[in-house]
Amino acid sequence: QSINAPDNLKPLLQEILQQALRVGEGKVADYIPALAEVKPDYCALTVATLDGKVTSVGDSEVAFSIQSISKIFGLMLAMERMGESLWDRVQMEPSGQPFNSIVQLEWERGIPRNPMINAGAILVSDVLVSHYSTSKAAVLSMVRGLCNNDTLSADSRVHESEREHGSRNAALAYLMKSFGNIDADVEEVLDHYFWQCALTMNTEDLARSLAFLANRGKCPRSGRQITSHRDAQRINALLSTSGMYDQSGQFAFTVGLPAKSGVGGGIVAIVPDYGVIAAWSPPLNSYGNSARGMAMIRNLANQLGLSVY
Ligand code: GLU
Repeated sequence: QSINAPDNLKPLLQEILQQALRVGEGKVADYIPALAEVKPDYCALTVATLDGKVTSVGDSEVAFSIQSISKIFGLMLAMERMGESLWDRVQMEPSGQPFNSIVQLEWERGIPRNPMINAGAILVSDVLVSHYSTSKAAVLSMVRGLCNNDTLSADSRVHESEREHGSRNAALAYLMKSFGNIDADVEEVLDHYFWQCALTMNTEDLARSLAFLANRGKCPRSGRQITSHRDAQRINALLSTSGMYDQSGQFAFTVGLPAKSGVGGGIVAIVPDYGVIAAWSPPLNSYGNSARGMAMIRNLANQLGLSVY
């Protein structure tokens, strides 16, 4: 594709951020106090290109709860460990249902629709807990390596309150266990899942950490092959069909980039062979996607002509 990007992105990002600040729509996630207390006026936008340049505007140094964006990191490790057999236990279809929906999971006999909804990510957590003696350490060291930041960690208060308010996720996990699709101890699996949701990163860390997905699986900084080119394509395909909750179709239609969002207000979008866009602003629209984050990524993608389609 031909990307029409200026060498210096900063003025454009600045203008897009200012426009986004006028978006008044949205409500900060309030299902746990630790998220409800985050200031709604935070707003950040980062673009990390494959030549190593990182351009940011706004609150790009403030770390936030990445929540569902962490589903990508878990999935990468599970794909590496399980190979093709992972796809016997989780499907690759968009769900068309809310991220924490339980009905479809019973109809489909405990096989989650895709790894980007909660049931799928809990299944992935089971794979990690079953295959690593310390699954959290495996994820943490991978993510720290990807963004070259050894201080990165999970927020223990968010982790704790995810657990306290985790009845629906527990219901998903126990339902899968009843169908024989969870191997490890359910409480241990849930603990890994809640911990992973509580990872905190800023938009710069996020953009850098996922650059390999825009670069055929290879980290542009270290030159290390993180996943095969094929697996990077597959992850991008899942993000395109299922990464933006039940607004994924509309996002593909209006933006056209593989992307993942989380209820902490973060969104990452992958631009193959160019780089990664990371946006953050806590107020969410009715689908659970950051309202300003959506506006910023849509605006940038449209101005630079970034759609993969
Ligand atoms: N911790 C949230 C949950 O499992 C994650 C939701 C999200 O970011 O989609 O309900």
